[in-house]
Amino acid sequence: MNRRQLLQGMVAAALSGGYAARLAAQAATPDVVVIGAGGAGLTAAKELLRSGRTVLVLEARDRIGGRAFTDTSLGAPWDRGCSWLHASEVNPLVRYAREQGFEPYVDRYPRHMYRGTERMGGAETAGYRALNERIERELADAGRRGLDIPAESALTQATLADPWYPMAMAGLTAWEGIEPANFSALDQFHFVEQGEDMLVARGYGALLAHYAKDVPVRLRTPVGRIRWNARGVAVETPSGTLNARVAIVALPSSVIAAGAVVFAPHLPAHVLQAHHDLPLGLMNKVALRFRRNVFPSERAEFWRLRRDDGRGMNYLTRLAGSNVCVGAAAGALAHELEAAGEAAMIEHALGELASMLGGEVRRHFDRGAATAWSADPFARGSYSHCLPGRFGARAVLTRPVGGRLVFAGEHTEQSAYGTLHGAHLSGLRAAAEARRLLAGAFA
Ligand SMILES: Cc1cc2nc3c(=O)[nH]c(=O)nc-3n(C[C@H](O)[C@H](O)[C@H](O)COP(=O)(O)OP(=O)(O)OC[C@H]3O[C@@H](n4cnc5c(N)ncnc54)[C@H](O)[C@@H]3O)c2cc1C
Repeated sequence: MNRRQLLQGMVAAALSGGYAARLAAQAATPDVVVIGAGGAGLTAAKELLRSGRTVLVLEARDRIGGRAFTDTSLGAPWDRGCSWLHASEVNPLVRYAREQGFEPYVDRYPRHMYRGTERMGGAETAGYRALNERIERELADAGRRGLDIPAESALTQATLADPWYPMAMAGLTAWEGIEPANFSALDQFHFVEQGEDMLVARGYGALLAHYAKDVPVRLRTPVGRIRWNARGVAVETPSGTLNARVAIVALPSSVIAAGAVVFAPHLPAHVLQAHHDLPLGLMNKVALRFRRNVFPSERAEFWRLRRDDGRGMNYLTRLAGSNVCVGAAAGALAHELEAAGEAAMIEHALGELASMLGGEVRRHFDRGAATAWSADPFARGSYSHCLPGRFGARAVLTRPVGGRLVFAGEHTEQSAYGTLHGAHLSGLRAAAEARRLLAGAFA
């Protein structure tokens, strides 16, 4: 038995033999070290294990999942990060969810649109819908013409002057985590949106955790430095240095752009630049738990507060039949609320719901929680967008560096950036790339 077979045996034992065996395998020198246990890193590791490679994932947090995490502390599952299974016809996690009994379902919740304290009528919502369709056509037109310009610049004056524009802009802002003056129309054009959005009652984070349950991960192990050369990689953490043949770097673009992990030697300038060109926008969520149902229906519903300045939040009520409701804010509003703190975010959401539903909401409020993805040192934002004029940055990060470093993460996946299935697809790509490099190294 050679060393590689021995390691593979240890990993196989780890997978069947529980935590102690898993830790033993982790101590050995793996073929591949994966840095970051989010959707991208976990997928890459699982794929490599499947093909008989030895792998260890290093994760800074005390849990896996990264930006995919289902919180159950309010008594009903709610996703602090991703919740919608987008592009369901081309999203591989939909099939996994079906096979594993997660019963994904299409989001067809009744929509209640409010403008201030007034429920929007049929004529109003029709005007709003018509503008959204026009925006879609104008953005697609810019994309087809290859215009790598701010999305807002791709819109006609008539669209920008439309009274519904601030509200429509809020939708675009939620998609990219930043207002349309700041992201590339061409990049958005290349996102493949095929199939209706779906949800899983147990949570998208829970689905990822289920998918990754057998992947060996060393938690509470922040990577500070990655040394790389023609012979392999040495990854430095507070608990020691791990050597491997190849590293899959599955960290958010913002973490690398901020210099939170040092590369020695430095990354090539164009690779570092690509990380800067794909910053993370912001979405934050507020979960509110009530002592009884304060909504008019016993069913889950979607409520939208639309304000004329576009700063209203969206709410999904009665999660999994519970009295928990989750609101979301994006872009500048999300930054302002996060800076104000958790209590202020909860108060803001209660105020909005009360404006739509009345004082009952406050009377029956029990407790709440809010996210702060911008201040989270291991995320530094919510999901990536491409700066205008920088289209192509995602493709740069699909190419390995020095035959030893492979990048993964939602930001590297042009067809599905900003999503969990994009992270998953990038993990599949990174695993294939790592296998190719290993085959070369062993030749
Ligand atoms: C509020 C919100 C709502 C969203 N909604 C949706 C949605 O509805 N649908 C959808 O598909 N997507 C959604 N997303 C986006 C989706 O969650 C992400 O695109 C996806 O989870 C990113 O996966 P990833 O593996 O690329 O990165 P991450 O999940 O961020 O994984 C990176 C990992 O690296 C770790 N790490 C960081 N620094 C270090 C270090 N120095 N050493 C070791 N480990 C480190 C992190 O802790 C993390 O676990 C949402 C995200 C947010 C925040």
